[in-house]
Amino acid sequence: MTERTLIRNARIVTCSEPPAGVIADGDILLDGDRVAEVSAGRLAVDEHAVRVVDVRGAAVLPGLGDAHVHLSWPLDFVFDHVSVANAPAAPHALDVAAVARTYLESGYTLVIGAGVSQPFDDIRTRDAIDRGYLPGPRILPSGTMITEAGAISADTGMTTVVTDARDLREAVARQCDTGVRVLKLFISGDGIVPEYPSDDVYMNDEMLAAAVDEADRHGAFISVHARGSASVAMAARTGVRLIHHACFLDEAALRELRARRDDVWVCPGLHYLYAMVSGHAEPWGVTPDKIERAGYEKEFHAQVEGLRLLRDEGIRIVAGGDFGHQWTRHGTYAAELERYVELVGMSPVEAINTATRDLGPLVGFDVGQIRPGALADLLIVDGDPTTDITVLQDPDRRRAVLKGGEFAYVNPRLYP
Ligand SMILES: [Zn+2]
Repeated sequence: MTERTLIRNARIVTCSEPPAGVIADGDILLDGDRVAEVSAGRLAVDEHAVRVVDVRGAAVLPGLGDAHVHLSWPLDFVFDHVSVANAPAAPHALDVAAVARTYLESGYTLVIGAGVSQPFDDIRTRDAIDRGYLPGPRILPSGTMITEAGAISADTGMTTVVTDARDLREAVARQCDTGVRVLKLFISGDGIVPEYPSDDVYMNDEMLAAAVDEADRHGAFISVHARGSASVAMAARTGVRLIHHACFLDEAALRELRARRDDVWVCPGLHYLYAMVSGHAEPWGVTPDKIERAGYEKEFHAQVEGLRLLRDEGIRIVAGGDFGHQWTRHGTYAAELERYVELVGMSPVEAINTATRDLGPLVGFDVGQIRPGALADLLIVDGDPTTDITVLQDPDRRRAVLKGGEFAYVNPRLYP
């Protein structure tokens, strides 16, 4: 007999439609690793035959997800990419485990890798979590970032550098053979490295089409770092599934995105830019002058504008934030959702959907909704995130996190 759990007296944010939205007072029955029933009011269940968890009005929502994650960046990371890449493997692995645990404890049950510092960081961490050795979220593993000769990050010694479509196809195949399921390619620059401005475009249509095809053959997909319009347009027209940043969007980029509406996802990293232009990185040497040279002020405003356009067009935005810098510290991941409400004009429920409902289909996992049949990945928080999105950032309101129907985290400050 599989174990059944009844969650009583919950404010349920289903992220499922129909019926859409929120059940003010309801019950959820879990059977094994899945949701069996969701109901307004009380479910008629023999309470002696199930484990009953009375949450007394707390909000229950699907476990959150983040589509742009670097598990490799330690809790004390300070932009020292090369030293992390070259750190001794054993202590580094423990650093990565601590980050995975932090995601879970922050309410995140799904993370999508956006490139690792040491080749097997995501894969080995996922394997250890799946075996039950470590607490952590579900991980869609990424590998070493791939860039083009002469392009951004090519001279750091921590990327895979390719020169043409054949070369790129081989690099994609090699990573997929090790278990990577989301490849990360640099196809634009980034103003924070002034020699490689955001408008620069790297690689070309032939290369990207080859990468998309090869990843597809392995059941994986391509994600790209694309900040300028031309790089976004190229990614959309060549079949790239996950486009990170998309800070600048001209009419051509929007047209290509529109044509791919059903199988493209845009992951902005808005809180990162917000924190940068708000001076949060200054204590770590990112001076106003450096921000000025990066062009980040302009980029930030363009990104807010672009996200409003994408939202109007119904092109899916998925939450993801490049978290792990000291000015966007691990554990503060849900700040990304606050920025969507505050700056893009989303309702709190819409913002939550970017981290739940809309992520499931991207990775092909049956997660992100509370409906019968879905995997029971759940977050239980005090307060009402549908009226105040910031409650998701408060560790003291986080009661528990379930993954596959099991309590994967229970807040020790609330349950001594
Ligand atoms: Zn990143």
